[in-house]
Amino acid sequence: MAHAVCIPYPAQGHVNPMMKLAKLLHHKGFHVTFVNTEFNHRRLLKSKGPDSLDDLPDFRFETIPDGLPPSDDDATQDIPSLSDSIRKTCLVSFRSLMAKLNDTHVSSNVVPPVSCIVSDLGMSFAINAAEELGIPVLLLWTASACGFLGYAHSRQLVERGDLAAVLKDDNYRTNGYMDTTIDWIPGLKKIRIKDLPSFLFTLDPNDSMLNFILEMIEKASKASAIVVNTFDALEQEALDVLSSMFPPIYSIGPLHLLLNQVPQKDLVSNIGSSLWKYEDDCLEWLNSKEPNSVIYVNFGSVADVTPPQMVEFAWGLANSKKAFLWVIRPDIVKDASLIVLLHEFVIETKNRGIILSWCPQEHVLSHPSIGGFLTHSGWNSMLESMCAGVPVLCWPFFAEQQINCRFACIEWGIGMEIDGNVKRDEVERIVRELMDGEKGKEIRKHAMEWKKMAEEATSSKGSSNLNLDKVVKEVLLQLN
Ligand code: UDP
Repeated sequence: MAHAVCIPYPAQGHVNPMMKLAKLLHHKGFHVTFVNTEFNHRRLLKSKGPDSLDDLPDFRFETIPDGLPPSDDDATQDIPSLSDSIRKTCLVSFRSLMAKLNDTHVSSNVVPPVSCIVSDLGMSFAINAAEELGIPVLLLWTASACGFLGYAHSRQLVERGDLAAVLKDDNYRTNGYMDTTIDWIPGLKKIRIKDLPSFLFTLDPNDSMLNFILEMIEKASKASAIVVNTFDALEQEALDVLSSMFPPIYSIGPLHLLLNQVPQKDLVSNIGSSLWKYEDDCLEWLNSKEPNSVIYVNFGSVADVTPPQMVEFAWGLANSKKAFLWVIRPDIVKDASLIVLLHEFVIETKNRGIILSWCPQEHVLSHPSIGGFLTHSGWNSMLESMCAGVPVLCWPFFAEQQINCRFACIEWGIGMEIDGNVKRDEVERIVRELMDGEKGKEIRKHAMEWKKMAEEATSSKGSSNLNLDKVVKEVLLQLN
């Protein structure tokens, strides 16, 4: 029996798609070991609710330390510190884990020997472990292909000095330079300086995130193959350019739709991947609303919205007079004054909306009452929205989210952008435009078209489905 060790980068937007891929591999007959960090595994156990994380004989969990000091806090970890620690410490514990799994095989014969590694691109130490064991390593890129293109050109962006030239001017945020477009990156037409991956905006050559990214991209060339959570019809050009730069690239997304194709009874039951506990009574609340009448607001698992920004969003939403479902992660609301403000906001908006700390997003987006999604433009959120035919208002926060926003608004026609320096009047105007205006109608229509194309890509003869079969056969099982 083939044995795949799946190791996600330890953040929600990475654990979710890796879990989906792991379930698909299990369905295709693999023994799966899913590797969490100790910190995340504790959170998964705590948040699981009706979901299960119990080991099944052929779908097991293992953990490795992330190298950061222990913390009882359930908040999102600091991404630069986490990335730096992973890069510097995880190979040793991962290597020991591989040895333990292979020893278990020898001593008990219950667990098959590890035959392949499926690793997030961000966990590039796994490539070393695979090389040492002489087994294939498949990398999963959990974000967009266009975002990958931005990162793939990090070295050139640093060496050409495009960003350094901007950063050296203290007024770079206001002098208009961030809005100028660059055209030399193949596949990224009409990209503005400000759309480039946020981690590259540094003048410090020792910056930990910059070095994490540079190493990740360099090591990706050593993978057996790379799979991307996207689909050909959406990102053909970006995928073609990536194919000319890296080992074989396959689009296998949207993974959640691919997984939906498998009858529930044939899947590992109920294994969840949410790091927060769902508040799912919101689905009942949505049942009481008219179709397309509610704006859903959620900034994902990492974005750190400041109190003044929250104030602008709150009053923009209140003044739009639209119904809303707003998810505010508990770790965003640390500031006592914000709690007072949100209280006033809830009184002002009466029963027009609800505020939750975490929700089952895929279900929420598929609810007919949702008419739009105000999002930080994280890739999973963008795909989940598109697959539900829901148009987006993009307020990109960091990483490659700015590129996702740009493509959503300019190339795919499913979104409108909110300025980084958010103001309540703009929020009010854009929410009304989305829910009632002509532009809203147009982007909703496009979102419905992409929904159909995503469904086609994941159907039995669709490109993503066929690609996954090919990857399993040719890369993971090495049957040619
Ligand atoms: N998510 C969720 N409930 C929430 C917020 C987010 O289930 O209240 C899920 C969402 O469906 C997505 C993931 O968390 O799969 C967030 O990933 P994304 O790439 O959108 O953003 P990130 O959190 O990585 O910034």
